[in-house]
Amino acid sequence: MKNRGIAYFSAEFGLDETLPIYSGGLGILAGDHIKAAADMNVPLTGVGIFYGKGYFQQRIDEGGRQQHLYPEVNLEASVYPVQLVMDHNNQPLLIEVPLIGRKIFANAWAVQVGSITVYLLHTDIESNSETDRRLTDTLYPSNQDLRISQEILLGIGGTRLLAALGIEPEVWHMNEGHCVFLTLERIRVLSAQGLPFETALETVKASTVFTTHTPVPAGHDVFSIEMMDRYFGDYYWQLGADRERVLSLGRMDGAFNMTRFAVSTSSKVNGVSKLHGEVTRELFHRWMPHIPKQDIPVDSITNGIHIETWLAAGMKELFDRHLPSDWTSRTTDPKVWAAVRDIPSSELWEEHLRAKSVMSEELGLPISSTSRIPLVIGFARRFATYKRALLIFSDPQRLARILGDPERPVSLIFAGKAHPADAPGQNMIRQIVELSREDRFKGRVHIVENYAMDKAKKLVQGVDVWLNTPTKPMEASGTSGQKAAVNGVLGCSVLDGWWAEGYNGRNGWAIEGKVDGDHDTQVKQDSEALYRLLEEEIVPRYYNQNEQSLPMEWVDLMKESICTLAPAFNTHRMINDYWNKVYVPAMARGKRFASDHFEVASRVAAYKQFVRNNWSGVRVSKVDIVTDNHSGRIGLHKTTFRTEIELGPIWHKDVRVEAVGSDGREGIWKVKLEPVQQSSKGKFVYEGATFDTSINFWKANVNVRVTPISPDFESNFELELAAWGFH
Ligand SMILES: *Cc1c(COP(=O)(O)O)cnc(C)c1O
Repeated sequence: MKNRGIAYFSAEFGLDETLPIYSGGLGILAGDHIKAAADMNVPLTGVGIFYGKGYFQQRIDEGGRQQHLYPEVNLEASVYPVQLVMDHNNQPLLIEVPLIGRKIFANAWAVQVGSITVYLLHTDIESNSETDRRLTDTLYPSNQDLRISQEILLGIGGTRLLAALGIEPEVWHMNEGHCVFLTLERIRVLSAQGLPFETALETVKASTVFTTHTPVPAGHDVFSIEMMDRYFGDYYWQLGADRERVLSLGRMDGAFNMTRFAVSTSSKVNGVSKLHGEVTRELFHRWMPHIPKQDIPVDSITNGIHIETWLAAGMKELFDRHLPSDWTSRTTDPKVWAAVRDIPSSELWEEHLRAKSVMSEELGLPISSTSRIPLVIGFARRFATYKRALLIFSDPQRLARILGDPERPVSLIFAGKAHPADAPGQNMIRQIVELSREDRFKGRVHIVENYAMDKAKKLVQGVDVWLNTPTKPMEASGTSGQKAAVNGVLGCSVLDGWWAEGYNGRNGWAIEGKVDGDHDTQVKQDSEALYRLLEEEIVPRYYNQNEQSLPMEWVDLMKESICTLAPAFNTHRMINDYWNKVYVPAMARGKRFASDHFEVASRVAAYKQFVRNNWSGVRVSKVDIVTDNHSGRIGLHKTTFRTEIELGPIWHKDVRVEAVGSDGREGIWKVKLEPVQQSSKGKFVYEGATFDTSINFWKANVNVRVTPISPDFESNFELELAAWGFH
């Protein structure tokens, strides 16, 4: 098992603040995925890049300008054991990667996380030219050539590294699209063994799975065709396919889209929350408009957090005392968490206050020094514009009134980095610094420099309310609110990402501005909803304290929040989902496709080619609807669909024929039709009936669809083909 299992590729890993090779949520998720897999003995190997200078360290100068510092990362400071990977001769293992006619070399650092190894490729070694040595300096360079070179190193180099280590993964998990070139390298290897391209592609696809994280089209990596030709010009032919075929796997709007490419080369695709799954189906529907968005084969697995990483030490001790003794290995069991309700409220509150004062001390916040300790609201995450850090300042006067009440003071803490090339993001930081200096906000609005895992831990453990105000639906999942929740910090968030699933009306607050109108209207509605929550719910409840200064109602909310959110939004539940829904099926599929000299893979490849070549001849020539009101029984109302189909040389058992229409809400209805007659060669009559009277079969709403199917397909739309006819 050791040398098989699952390969998990990610451009960033947020394991610990001592290893700053992550920029935000994506990396933190990857780090938590690794830790939970280690807890659960899932056989997994991580592959990433060791960025010698990491993501930048942030300073904010007097003028509120973000400064970027790039100190060398010191691997010896890592809390996880890190070792240079050696070859058989006890020399540093070197991986060779082709890059536009030259070769670059990479060594690999092995980070040990319990039973799991994460391998990190690095090019700052003597065998490389000075330019190539700088390739792995920093994360997410804006320069496109650097970007594609890093992605070639990760995908192709990572695959070569695993081969050099004798690791033959059964499943390849691509965490976001930066690593997708791994599929090309695996096809190249199979091609070199004599496999035709299409068979190699099917083999690779069967064992590859893809998690997408970006709901915005602009967030996906896109390279120009010219660039692809420059980097892959003498690679295409090694795949046994022509250039056009290779490019077709990722071609979109005249360029090469890495997400499109990932979808073409994997058998399972998932988004990271239910809502994000829907948004992704809608996005992909634009790429395949002939497939209704409800049928786009994208699943969702909602993100979680690694509880032991994010839970305050004191809170953990409290849980150790009051929860079942094996609670850390039963984190997905709601019964285990129900015990939180029986923790004496005073103990839970004291523990929270302790975390609050630790935060204020370690982050140097002047909170406990004021006469009355304020209600503290935290907002910390990357300063990306869609996260709308400034939303709460929409009406500064109203906010100043909320914060400045001497009887019921409220403080706001901000933290976060903006990408070095993100001018609007950096501008938000400057505006917050300027606002924090205005008299009305002085001492009430704070900004913490250099947000990273260490600061994040203190904040999610120590504030009272965790604020999240993204433009819906742009937050794919979000995880910082989950870290806050397990610590008893109450969430106040737009109903986006995971919060749309987590919020139950009693475990925090939902900012429910109406979701219509342009950007400015949206901001107005959401900020109005936020102010109302602050004025009418959050502040009054927090300051409703008994003689012992205990806010009983608030602590009940904390308990409700922990009990309902912790069991669902942790990485143990998430890894279970990946294991059952993704890894196990992909393992079986990969094995089946490759066995008996790739028999299934070559059959599927041949079948797909045959269908593709003949699909243009498939036609729905006629659609009839017969409504029968004379069944003799009241309420029974039979509707029959009759249609004529031309299939050409395609066998009628290789297609599915359905009547399909909108149900007038968010869904679609489908009625399966069966062949009842062959009128001539390749021409069939199909018929089917339904007694469902809830559907309104008005004429324009009835369409007939023909799709190619195969028991070997992972989904009914694997070929992305459909022929339609209308009544
Ligand atoms: C958790 C975390 C994030 C992700 O937070 P979101 O709520 O998903 O934006 C980003 N950065 C750091 C340092 C984190 O710990």
